[in-house]
Amino acid sequence: MTIKEQFITFKAMNTWVIAGAASLLFLICFFFLFSIYSLFEKEKRAFWFSSLFLFLLIVLCFGFFLVETPLKNWLFGGIFLLMVLDLLFLLFSPLKKAATEIIGEQRKIDERDIIFARFEYEEGSRVYDEYYVRMPQYKKKDDELRRIPDILSPSHIKKDPILLSLAAAEFDFLEHQLTKVSGVESAEKVQQSPPENTRKIKGILKYLGSDLCGICLLNQAYVYSHVGRGPEQYGREIELNHKYAVVFALEMDLGMVASAPSAPVIVETGKKYVEAARISITLADFIRRLGYPARAHIAGSNYLAMLPPLACEAGLGELGRLGILVTSKYGPRARLGLVTTDLPLVVDKTKKFGIQNFCQKCQKCARNCPSQAISCKEKTEENGVLKWVLNREECYRFWRKSGTDCAVCIYVCPYSKPNNSFHNFIRKMTEKSSAAQTLSILGDDFFYGRLPYRKKSPLD
Ligand code: SF4
Ligand code: SF4
Repeated sequence: MTIKEQFITFKAMNTWVIAGAASLLFLICFFFLFSIYSLFEKEKRAFWFSSLFLFLLIVLCFGFFLVETPLKNWLFGGIFLLMVLDLLFLLFSPLKKAATEIIGEQRKIDERDIIFARFEYEEGSRVYDEYYVRMPQYKKKDDELRRIPDILSPSHIKKDPILLSLAAAEFDFLEHQLTKVSGVESAEKVQQSPPENTRKIKGILKYLGSDLCGICLLNQAYVYSHVGRGPEQYGREIELNHKYAVVFALEMDLGMVASAPSAPVIVETGKKYVEAARISITLADFIRRLGYPARAHIAGSNYLAMLPPLACEAGLGELGRLGILVTSKYGPRARLGLVTTDLPLVVDKTKKFGIQNFCQKCQKCARNCPSQAISCKEKTEENGVLKWVLNREECYRFWRKSGTDCAVCIYVCPYSKPNNSFHNFIRKMTEKSSAAQTLSILGDDFFYGRLPYRKKSPLD
């Protein structure tokens, strides 16, 4: 071999070593960040496993450097090619984002039929008798569930008197807000353009404490047909003709949710509902002061419309396998608030985040649900929408048994991970690539466990 040929080979070999070492360095940085984030997130399993990967990668890197050339070049070259193949695989498996499909007519839901209303009907009362004469198909199952002590009933509160009393206080507070949701608007209208109104409303929502917000037209299919609970007259036909729905979401504290299905979860639910009530009542009052009709819809409950489908239309997220809204930033770890109004606004577009595709492959919530209420099967049609239908009675049975609102499915969902740069990077990847979704589902099971363990909350 001539000197020139040797020089070319040497340069080529070095290029392979540099490329391979850079690839390993990228992986080392990734796992270093992963272990640091896991440490701060108190995710023990993820911390130890990511640290183990980090250690192995460092050993591998040093080991390769100790090997004689040309084997060294082959090894580093192999690592580089493997990385390139992985990247190509991730980049060239673009995600064809599926949407929630509306395949038939959507009838208005009667609030009297929803599970939370049905369990407010006291045995022997006029409402109870009237309801089960009209809807006898629910009676047997409902009566059986009534035998189990209610959520926040004295027998449950005895198990954790401090935290469950706190939750009871929060829900009592909400009860006192139920009549403050509406009022008469000022006679004089403040005139501003729809874009200006929208900018102000979104800015105010953020200032008042909401984490996500969006605006859509108030789809009448999502307005309840009749009042089923709350302070308004039971059975009254609902007329809600506001043009717009302003929907917002509040992030639930992951530390509290991670204790699911224990008492801290319902304390956190109560806290977020109280905050949502404060924000929506204030916002509705503010809009009325500008001279436009507005009504807040708060938990407890005096909802006149269904929040999750409106939140989907306002671009906050998508309906997930677990039967509730999965938001883009916090997954299902969020509570919703709503104000309906005629204030002229600009509506947001419905967005697709790839959540339908992700839920199609991932069944973590279904696998972990203590009452097997979440479907592991394909979507089926319910009221014109193709979706994973939740067995609400079985879910609610577990709520009554545990004395809380459970939330195990919310905790284990991979989308519920903290809203930080590391997890957002993974969220972004899963929005773009089908292979990244598969990798993320496998990684979540491996690093966080197929059946994640319950943690102590900050209040324990
Ligand atoms: S809240 Fe609990 S019982 Fe209900 S669906 Fe989720 S995991 Fe299952
Ligand atoms: S746990 Fe998985 S299947 Fe369930 S809602 Fe979350 S992403 Fe979808």
